[in-house]
Amino acid sequence: LRCMSQATFKFNDLQIEPAKNLKSKPDADKLVFGKTFSDHMLEVYWTEEKGWGAPKICEVHNLDIHPAIKALHYAAELFEGMKAYRGVDDKIRLFRPEENMKRMINSASRAALPTFDGGELTKCIAKLVDMDKDWIPHAPDTSLYMRPTLIGTEPSLGVSKTTEALLFVLIGPVGPYYAHGFQPVSLMADPEYVRAWPGGCGFAKMGSNYGPTIAIQAEAVRRGCQQVLWLYGEDHQLTEVGTMNLFMHWINANGERELVTPPLDGIILPGVTRKSLIEMTKQWGGFNVVERTFGMKEVLQALKENRVKEIFGAGTACVVSPVERIQYMGEDYHIPTMEQKDPIWNRCWKELTDIQLGRNAPHAWAPVV
Ligand code: PMP
Repeated sequence: LRCMSQATFKFNDLQIEPAKNLKSKPDADKLVFGKTFSDHMLEVYWTEEKGWGAPKICEVHNLDIHPAIKALHYAAELFEGMKAYRGVDDKIRLFRPEENMKRMINSASRAALPTFDGGELTKCIAKLVDMDKDWIPHAPDTSLYMRPTLIGTEPSLGVSKTTEALLFVLIGPVGPYYAHGFQPVSLMADPEYVRAWPGGCGFAKMGSNYGPTIAIQAEAVRRGCQQVLWLYGEDHQLTEVGTMNLFMHWINANGERELVTPPLDGIILPGVTRKSLIEMTKQWGGFNVVERTFGMKEVLQALKENRVKEIFGAGTACVVSPVERIQYMGEDYHIPTMEQKDPIWNRCWKELTDIQLGRNAPHAWAPVV
């Protein structure tokens, strides 16, 4: 008789090995993103034969991996990025974790890595966060970043589906994104560089989408810009900003006020912030919220006619990031995002952080840990 392999791990099987060495916590004002990790991590092993093992929370430790594992050679890996927030009532909240789980499972399917029940992982993550909640700083606008990761660990060089995998979750405190007030960003828009393309994996959060962007980000800085505006296609469609989704508040060619963002056509990462802002702003009224493709030609024409009001990025790191300049085909274009009265980006930031910090709790988007 063949045993059924475990299609998911279960929170009820969670084992806890408390850390022997507790680290000292850094000052909140000295935090550099992604460099500090808490005391504990979560790990769950999977094999094709047996399926998922029991999840375990243990001390953060180095991995013992063979140099031939598929994650190292063929980027058989994916990750998520999400945050936990210390609320105004000192309760710890996640933000729409089921959306991150959905995206993680989509990425896993595309990467030929094993899938699992997202609700079970959320419960394990909540337990991990609860154990290390003293790591969440008290200073305003700080949070706990969470990095669920899934890697193919079969030690073999065949370009084929891994028969072994490891899911782990690291968590660590992050400082305020806007420690010195909102700083608008400048963008390099060069159609020579493409982040994702139809039929590719832009919709998935795989490491293989990110490694190749590092040199382009460095090029943007060399050219006096802060981030990359990723263009696609002959019409130079605006797709994403760095690791954020893109929104533009403008008056369209028909004279209608619109908040527009590129559609989820496969080359866009389906951001949780993006989804939330679309749902939120649709309730506001006063403008249409539209998912559609738009290109640089349209944007430049609208800029010339004073119809562009705001351009901003949206993502977990910053919630929203206003844009003040786009460098395109050797020209610098000023974007009047910071000059608007009651701009949409600022109201988005306020309403989303209110939910995250429990200012109008309870809210279905922000479950307490
Ligand atoms: N686009 C890309 C390419 C990203 O890496 C991210 C960050 N996950 C986002 C958009 C924003 O997604 P989210 O709102 O879920 O953080």
